[in-house]
Amino acid sequence: MAENTKKNKKESGLSVVKKTLKYFLPVAWKVNKGYFFTSAVRTLVNAVRPFVAIIVSPLIISELLGKRDLNKLLIYAAVIAVAEPLLSFISSWLNSQVEKYGEKFDNYITEEMSRRIMELDFQVTEDKKALDQVEAARTGMSWYSGGIVGIFEPVFEIIRQIVTIGGTVVLIALNAPLLFLLTLTVAVINAVIQNKQNKIEVERFKELSKINRAFSYYGWQISDFRYGKDIRLYGAKELMVERWNNYTDESTGQWIDMANKQHPLNHLKNIFNVSRDIISYLYLGILVLSGGISIAVFTQMTASSAAFNSSLSSLLFQLQQIVKSCNYAYEYVKFADFPAAIEKGSRHIEGTEHTVEFRNVSFTYPNTDVEVLKGVSITLRQGEHLSVVGLNGAGKTTFVKLLCRLYDPTEGEILLDGVNIKEYDYNEYMSVFAPVFQDFKLFAFSVKENIILDGSCSDEELNGFIEQVGLSDKINSLEKKCDTVLFKAFDENGIEPSGGEQQKMAIARALYKKAPVVILDEPTAALDPVAEYDIYRQFHSLVGGKTAIYISHRLSSCKFCDRIAVFSEGVIKECGTHDELICIDNGIYAEMFRAQAKYYN
Ligand code: ADP
Repeated sequence: MAENTKKNKKESGLSVVKKTLKYFLPVAWKVNKGYFFTSAVRTLVNAVRPFVAIIVSPLIISELLGKRDLNKLLIYAAVIAVAEPLLSFISSWLNSQVEKYGEKFDNYITEEMSRRIMELDFQVTEDKKALDQVEAARTGMSWYSGGIVGIFEPVFEIIRQIVTIGGTVVLIALNAPLLFLLTLTVAVINAVIQNKQNKIEVERFKELSKINRAFSYYGWQISDFRYGKDIRLYGAKELMVERWNNYTDESTGQWIDMANKQHPLNHLKNIFNVSRDIISYLYLGILVLSGGISIAVFTQMTASSAAFNSSLSSLLFQLQQIVKSCNYAYEYVKFADFPAAIEKGSRHIEGTEHTVEFRNVSFTYPNTDVEVLKGVSITLRQGEHLSVVGLNGAGKTTFVKLLCRLYDPTEGEILLDGVNIKEYDYNEYMSVFAPVFQDFKLFAFSVKENIILDGSCSDEELNGFIEQVGLSDKINSLEKKCDTVLFKAFDENGIEPSGGEQQKMAIARALYKKAPVVILDEPTAALDPVAEYDIYRQFHSLVGGKTAIYISHRLSSCKFCDRIAVFSEGVIKECGTHDELICIDNGIYAEMFRAQAKYYN
């Protein structure tokens, strides 16, 4: 516990700044080198700007109080009149360039983040801690940190303020050393107050990230028309709105609490600043009256002191700003380094014919303590068609999820051609399987894009798959055929396919993948009996000589398979052909089959 606290303390300080800058520097350099050159020039311009007035104004006053040389006065006035607006113009032009770079950085981060989210191990996507981290990263890289520009701006600002402070310190220390001490003291007090304010904000940020994730969830469900039917028919509207309101109240509460805590601190800062200004003028006035400094130096001191004050408080503010921005952006660094949930090897998969073996595999879902698979052992030869049956919750889908490496077994091992699947290159291993899960998803893309996703194929080949799954009539009836867009999210002419049609498209997608092992998890659940019969009948020709795993509640499908594995409470209780299993006295399969046969008869 003590170690944890120590670790958290260390994580929230300088080390976070270092880690964040170390992470983002090469990223920003790769995406946009121009940003660094532009910012460097702007820093120099802004650092020099205040010195035009600080140096030239006293010269004008000296001249006015002394010889009043008109030529000199005109030159001084011209320098102020030209240099100031010119530097200001250059600075604001460079600012606008930096803003453009900011846009580019933001787009890069959004794209990179989406890519990383899609690449996260599946198991991570069910982990609340991981989901909170994703939201913290997203929020952290928004206006909270100001994105990549928000992280590096304080660095350039700090350099600028150091240059300005260096110049003004020399001028003040030479003429009025006490003024320097006074300003420094007030700046340090302001920094302490600002630090307290930042801490309040960072603390609130953590709470607000959690609330924002819940907000996104409700916002998405409410606007996703696929939930429309359930929302309307089951009166979910009130519940959704109530939950939404609860989160709004919670979020508003956090903001009000933050404002209440920060306001008194703002007043305190103002009191110190006003007191410093009064004392400074009194001190400089006394120096002039006592002949310690001239009027020209008096104006130079007031201008230098103002520049010093604003630069010093800006420096301290920027130092805290960099800690704050880096703390927010560090959530992205943590997200980018999120530990892999499953081991990934580098071994290549040889050949196209494979034997799959579960050897004494047990599995418990993360953050649960119920073992849903218990010592499962089964071997599947190349080309074999296995039917997996059992009651709901028996562990059938989990068996398939483990095979597809969405999770790793907690005990035992899964072997492909005699080698533990953890040793294989993850992407190569994934290419062996073409699963159609119960909860498959089609996107609001065209039919063609939904089937081939990132691949490419001829219209002839595509039509072949469509024909095989029995979708030809439907597709041919559409004006744009395979280019017809699904759903109405992006196209008002998009079609809303029936559950059965969607399932057929998902099966076509699996066939297109041309993987040696096809897995169909309840693929016919949404099909009508005729379509179901057609799919069964064509099943062998659909999957050809591929290995196939077929999870189904409808036991008539089992007759088409070489072997049937009966799952019950996480164990394979019976395994054999239909003819073997049907003969077992009091057998689970025999009982289930007879119960269903009643309805078929
Ligand atoms: P089946 O496919 O045979 O209906 P599943 O494999 O889907 O059964 O589920 C087996 C058990 O695992 C069930 O008790 C289910 O509630 C549980 N389960 C499934 N998915 C998860 C998950 N992501 N987290 C925790 N438990 C789960």
